Order: sequence, then C-alpha cells, then structure tokens
Amino acid sequence: MSERIVILGADAAGMSAAHQMLRTARRTGRELAVTVLEKGAHTSYSACGIPYWMAGDVDSVDDLVARAPAQHLEAGIDLRMGAEAVGVDLAARRVELAAGEPVGYDQLVVATGAHPIVPDWAYGADGRLVGGVGPVKTLDDGEEWLRRFSAAGPGSHVVVVGGGYIGLEVAEAALRRGFGVTLVTRSRVMSSLEQELSDHVALTLTRAGVEVVLDADVTGLDVSQGRAAAVRWDGGGRECDLVVLALGVLPATEFLAGSGLELGEKGALRPDPHGRVADRVWAAGDCCETFRRLAADHVFRPLGTHANKMGRVLGDRLAGGSLAFDGILETAITRFAAGGQYVEVARTGLSLDDARAADYDPVAVTTSGSTASGYLDEADPVEVWVMADRASRRLLGVQIVGGRGAGKRIDTAAAVLWAEGAVDDLAWMDLSYAPPFSTAWEVLGLAARRAAERL
Ligand SMILES: Cc1cc2nc3c(=O)[nH]c(=O)nc-3n(C[C@H](O)[C@H](O)[C@H](O)COP(=O)(O)OP(=O)(O)OC[C@H]3O[C@@H](n4cnc5c(N)ncnc54)[C@H](O)[C@@H]3O)c2cc1C
Repeated sequence: MSERIVILGADAAGMSAAHQMLRTARRTGRELAVTVLEKGAHTSYSACGIPYWMAGDVDSVDDLVARAPAQHLEAGIDLRMGAEAVGVDLAARRVELAAGEPVGYDQLVVATGAHPIVPDWAYGADGRLVGGVGPVKTLDDGEEWLRRFSAAGPGSHVVVVGGGYIGLEVAEAALRRGFGVTLVTRSRVMSSLEQELSDHVALTLTRAGVEVVLDADVTGLDVSQGRAAAVRWDGGGRECDLVVLALGVLPATEFLAGSGLELGEKGALRPDPHGRVADRVWAAGDCCETFRRLAADHVFRPLGTHANKMGRVLGDRLAGGSLAFDGILETAITRFAAGGQYVEVARTGLSLDDARAADYDPVAVTTSGSTASGYLDEADPVEVWVMADRASRRLLGVQIVGGRGAGKRIDTAAAVLWAEGAVDDLAWMDLSYAPPFSTAWEVLGLAARRAAERL
C-alpha cells in the first residue's frame, strides 16, 4: 500500500517537497500517495516578484506563477485548493480542515509559510484593515496594490512602514509609479547592514526623493471616511493616501497550538537537517527556523531560497533519499533603482554584534572601490565591509553596497564562508579580471586583503 504523505501549503517549500518526493520515489521504488492541502487560490508563485509587478515590470499575474494547480495535478499530486488546515491530531494522524472531512496521513509535512505582521493600528473599529492600508505578501495583496495604485491620483503619497528589503523594493515601485514616498523605519534602513553601509543606502533613497524617517515607531493612523489620511509616529507624522506594511512576517503555525509540536520563540518549527520535526512530522520553509552555520544557533530567516531547498531536501528524504539541508549564512541581496539613483545591497555571514555574541573576536574593515576600471563608463563606486576573526583568521561576514554588478559579488564571499575559509582565501583566491568587470585588484579581494592586514 502507498504511504500517505500530506503536505500543508502549496508554494515554494510544499511544492518543492511534493515534486522532489515523486522524483526520488521513481528512483527508490517507494510508493507514495501525495496530497497537498492549500488554503489559497494559487500554487508555486513568486512573492519575490510582487514589488516588480507593483512597479509595472511584470505584465500579468500569470507571469509570477511557476506552476498552476493543473500542472501539479497532471504530475500525479492530489492537490486540494481552498483546503485550510485548522488543527492536527498527532495521535490519530489526522489533519482537521476548516471545511470538510479530516484528512489522514502516514507522514505530515508542514509548509504553511508565514503571515505578514499587521499591527493593531492598521485595523479600523470594524476589525477590517483601514482603506488604503495593506501588506505585500500574497498575489492577492499584489493585485490589491495594483488596484490601489491605479485608483490613486497624481500627487498621491505612499508611506512605506518598514525599512527591510521588502520596504526598499516597494519604495522603489511606488516612486517609479510617480507617487511621493516616505519610508518610516523603527531603526535604520536595511538594519541587517552595518551602520555605514545602511547610511549609504538611506542617502541613496533620500537623493532619489524618498523622505526617509529613521528610528521612528509608528503609533497610529489618522483615518478619514474609512481611509488612511496620515501616519503618526513618536514626534512626527505624514499625510498620505496609501500605507504599505512591510514589517516582516511570523510563522503560520497557529493551527498547531495544542498539537504537542514544539514551537520556537516566534512560533517557528525547528526541523533537523533532513526536515524532520517529530515522529511522522516534517517541516520546511518560512514556518521554520534555520541553522546558522557561523553562530551554530537557530534563527528565523524566512527566504524563498531556503524554502525551496528545505522542501526539496525533505521531499527527497521522505522518498528514501539522503539529501540534507546544511544551514544558512544569511546571504541576501536586493537593489533600489528609482529617482535617478541605483544601488545594489548584499550581505552574507554575521554582523559585528552577532559575531561578538557568538564568541568570535571580530575585526572589520570597510573598503571603497569600483565595479569596473575607472576609465570606463560602467565603473560605479562600491563599498565592501569585511569581517574576520582575529585568532583563527576565519572570514565571518561580508557586506556590499554599490552600483551595477556590485551585489552578486557577495556569492564569492558566501562560497568562502560556506567552506569555512580564511579572510586570506578571499584576499588571494583567483578572481576574474577585465576592465569592464573589475579593477585589476578586484574590490572584494582588495577589501579582504585590507581586513587580513588588520588582524
Ligand atoms: C514581497 C516579497 C518579496 C520577497 N522577495 C524575496 C527575495 O527576493 N528572495 C528570497 O529568497 N525570498 C523573498 N521573499 C520570501 C519568499 O517569498 C518566501 O520565503 C517564500 O515564499 C516561502 O515559501 P514557503 O513555501 O515557505 O511559504 P509561502 O510562500 O508563505 O507559502 C505557504 C503556503 O501555505 C498556505 N497555507 C498557509 N496556512 C495554511 C493552512 N493552515 N492550511 C493550508 N494552507 C496553508 C498559504 O496559502 C501559502 O500558499 C519575498 C517575500 C515577499 C512577500
């Protein structure tokens, strides 16, 4: 008899798991009956593309869907749309649904992702979001934002609350759509960057015409006729027409409360490297914590790149394979391109504070350079921050802020970190050079050499 696998959630983690399971099962000969329960109306979609859709770079919502429900069904997956899990009975091996009969399983995969954080002040007295206010998380949110953008008249003003990568990308989209933009953030812009690189990004936004408000806690809204008319924060405020909530996410695991499964501080599950959480229960993606290689701890870092890999690993494992997910380095990249300004932002490894907390003795140096030889038009300024451990010389972190071609250099640094290399490896490894692509001393190698000299 086929083993019954039930997967909750049909996006990056859930569908990567489902398809990998079938691929591996063909090789191992395992017989699996794969059912996926999805509460929404979309599968395998790119939330990452939503800000570019809002900006006008993507023609249709269909372009953001990698695989529609029919394609999953054709592949032999019993995909049930509009099926919301509201509880799990571990003893009876059964998932309770919001509507319909419970679904029994032999192995359960939780891939329910995360919810956007929506503060209380965003709701009106009727318990619904105030008009013109909303998060950017699902394709439905994206559609709603396109509607709001088209309805907003010239001269409308958008306040983006949150200065992380989604806040930055949405600020770009709103500015490119011709709106006035204010970005309000509780600490600094891109707070996972060190101060001087974060300052560089904030300055770029300001030069592009974005009003940047740092260290401000939003306390509420002024509402007129059911719509947001202003955003208020300690010591200030801004009149506006639209308010984008870009405050991060929390794991969508509330339906597991009382199930007996252990949930972390933010409500995230903690799978082992194969994706296993408990007997017959597995998890992947944004509903999970991930292992941080450099600090040897677990953190909540919801990203699509992790969700895809974690899903694939557990799918392989459940079908008899041996893949493992070996953790993360906190590598991330984004850009801001609007108002005549352009900046790429990338990071990998620990921050200075995290390195100290993990008992390293970190030394950090920032180096300015160029993305190409200075005599070419394509040469753009770049700043590279490199951190290494004094005693072991181990590379601990790299951050990059700069023009075209600056950001993806982070992957070279990530490769050295992954291999537990020394700062000297990054300084002296064989990196490519020709004038349109770098200076003779590639800026990443140069920055690493300066850091090595300071140890
Ligand atoms: C605007 C935006 C930009 C982003 N940009 C990037 C980027 O550039 N790079 C990057 O790496 N990551 C990015 N991300 C993050 C990335 O989209 C997520 O990490 C990824 O989608 C996580 O996949 P997941 O499958 O774990 O969860 P989700 O994509 O959240 O999918 C979970 C699915 O489970 C369903 N579900 C939830 N609860 C239940 C339930 N109880 N029962 C049944 N179904 C349920 C949901 O409807 C959903 O379809 C971005 C996210 C956003 C919102």
